[in-house]
Amino acid sequence: MKIRLAEIPVEGRKFSFNRQTGELNSALTDIIDEAPYRVELLIRPLGNAFEMEGRVVTSMKEVCSLCGWDLSLPINKDFREILIDEPEAGRDTHHVHGNQSVDFLKEGPSTTPVRDGLFDAAEFVHEFVALAEPLYPSCGDPDCEHLEEAKQKQAELAAEFEKADENTSPFASLEKIKDSLKPKKKH
Ligand SMILES: [Zn+2]
Repeated sequence: MKIRLAEIPVEGRKFSFNRQTGELNSALTDIIDEAPYRVELLIRPLGNAFEMEGRVVTSMKEVCSLCGWDLSLPINKDFREILIDEPEAGRDTHHVHGNQSVDFLKEGPSTTPVRDGLFDAAEFVHEFVALAEPLYPSCGDPDCEHLEEAKQKQAELAAEFEKADENTSPFASLEKIKDSLKPKKKH
């Protein structure tokens, strides 16, 4: 889904994509599979660049990093970007989100280079969703909801393992040997 920036009027243009309209379906399959999504963009000329604001609403299938439960993680994130038309030369030194760490520090809008006046909305949204994916997904907000349950299960399993192992445990027989070696009290 490419947007020709030269066609954006002075007052800006709104774009709205979802699974029904289908423009981004194939581009997003690898990260959200068949999940519904809603992408809204407003692009406005800003000097010799373009300002873009928008929001991505969707969900990702994840596994809780603490308890291992499957979960559908909601993604609902706003963005603000400056689209800058980059000349051909020097393009390889930039990545779509090349200045991510800098933006993280100064909280300003980040810039996205655009090639030949064509903004690739599919590529941008794909990258945006991929970056929204948490490193350690959690089934609760913000903490794991099943942590106690998971801990208990683990303790139960450990106890069962110990019980089954009690008679054959090398430590158990060692205890017996130690007992037999204790000096007997004389009366
Ligand atoms: Zn969890």
